[in-house]
Amino acid sequence: MSGATVVWLRQDLRLEDQPALAAAAARGGPVVPLYVHAPEEEGDWPPGSASRFWLHHSLTALDGDLRRLGSRLVVRRGASLPNLLDVARRTEADAIHFCARSEPMARLRDGLVRRELEAAGLEVAAFNGHLLYEPQIVRTRAGEPFKVFTPFWNACRALGDPLPPLPAPSRLDAPPAWPVSETIAGLGLLPQPDWAEGMRFAWRPGERGARQRLGEFQRDGLDDYAAARDRPAVAGTSRLSPHLHFGEVSPRQVFHAAQEHGGSGAGVSPPRSRGSSPSAAWLREIGWREFAHHVLHHFPHTPEKPLRSEFDRFPWRRDPDRLAAWQRGRTGYPIVDAGMRELWKTGWMHNRVRMVVASFLVKDLLVTWQEGAAWFWDTLVDADLANNTLNWQWSAGCGADAAPYFRIFNPVLQGRRFDPEGEYVARFVPELARLHPTHRHAPWLAPSRALEEAELVLEEDYPRPIVDHETARKRALIAFQTIRAGSRRNPTQTA
Ligand code: FAD
Repeated sequence: MSGATVVWLRQDLRLEDQPALAAAAARGGPVVPLYVHAPEEEGDWPPGSASRFWLHHSLTALDGDLRRLGSRLVVRRGASLPNLLDVARRTEADAIHFCARSEPMARLRDGLVRRELEAAGLEVAAFNGHLLYEPQIVRTRAGEPFKVFTPFWNACRALGDPLPPLPAPSRLDAPPAWPVSETIAGLGLLPQPDWAEGMRFAWRPGERGARQRLGEFQRDGLDDYAAARDRPAVAGTSRLSPHLHFGEVSPRQVFHAAQEHGGSGAGVSPPRSRGSSPSAAWLREIGWREFAHHVLHHFPHTPEKPLRSEFDRFPWRRDPDRLAAWQRGRTGYPIVDAGMRELWKTGWMHNRVRMVVASFLVKDLLVTWQEGAAWFWDTLVDADLANNTLNWQWSAGCGADAAPYFRIFNPVLQGRRFDPEGEYVARFVPELARLHPTHRHAPWLAPSRALEEAELVLEEDYPRPIVDHETARKRALIAFQTIRAGSRRNPTQTA
């Protein structure tokens, strides 16, 4: 009979389709689920405020689910290695299991920890629990990593369907004595003072919440996904991103749920155009998640530096006042402000609006994408180093398969197109709710009578635009020309 197995849990906080846990249960001895809180091992990217809120509730939910199986979550804080060794010694464990991560600091740490654990005589096994396809096996014909999404996703699909998800273990044997554990509350993850009411209202962290959301989306949302996914006022997307980030649901579960719903369109059939089947359209987004992790795995410098190195020379501006206006949702562009306030209130923002606010920051304000990524990192419940980095670099035009820099979103037109009734704006920018929908995306253009009827005083109740979009657009294009021409002159210094 084998000794105990310590399952080192990180961003895989679930029981179903948890390969590290399933293999530990299959070994036959006691299983010791362990979470070590070690933010200092995450380099420049320890979990932000919204992520810590989520983590608290996710760990609590996991502990409850484990207790229903006669087990529990052992919680420690401090460096991972001594805690793993200590827990292994106290439970007479001879093996450590964990699921791999993509983040550069975590990979570095995991490699070092693994060597030390093996040197201490422990059997160590790492599993793929967070991706459909491991980043190192997806390669171009020349054996290189991909930098363009569509060929990457086609290559993934050519590898075949991922295996069906594993069931949750039906029982987990406890060790003869549980090692000492911190309380989850003792980790101090919850915000003080408590500003998280909006997030508590919007989300149910944990595996059950994830399963419920996946089930509801599969039943009620998937069929309309292609049409509704760009409408921020409706619940047209799955909102699974925080659950996927914390591993409360696995991408394999998501893949197979979509395939069950959509048949062959979701599987390895030849690629179809976007939207040809609801499942295929949705799985493409899961494909973007895979792509983001692939890019981070192969280009680990990208959270700090642009993939396209010419952008190192881009003449970004330091503009703390306008950056603060963007963060607080006070730019005077209603769709931008609604997005930033949705983020502040709920810890999440609709994807279409994320693209608009990101474009506004890097192109209209010329504030560097790293500032935007850092703000998102602190405020998003789904903050994910791979997804956040890829998408900010996409928005800035400096990353893999990025939007061309010269494509600059007009925030008024984007608002009118994707929120035609101004419902999203009215929900998150209540001072504009009484304004007639035709004026909601550009209140400064509204006739004074319409403003009076809405009892809206511009500048007092709601700001005028902090930049003129047309002027800002031209300035951004000139700035872009400087890196194209290889010139180091900064045209914005005199602007
Ligand atoms: P759905 O449309 O239901 O998609 C299903 C899943 O696919 C998502 O949960 C997510 O895991 C994945 N996905 C969808 N779109 C993308 C995408 N563009 N890139 C990568 N994966 C995607 N997503 C994060 O999970 N964490 C982040 O930190 C993050 N930062 C972003 C920053 C910017 C500037 C932008 C433009 C996008 C960012 N995204 C990020 C991607 C995207 O906005 C969210 O994944 C999506 O809004 C989540 O909503 P959903 O779960 O309803 O998505």
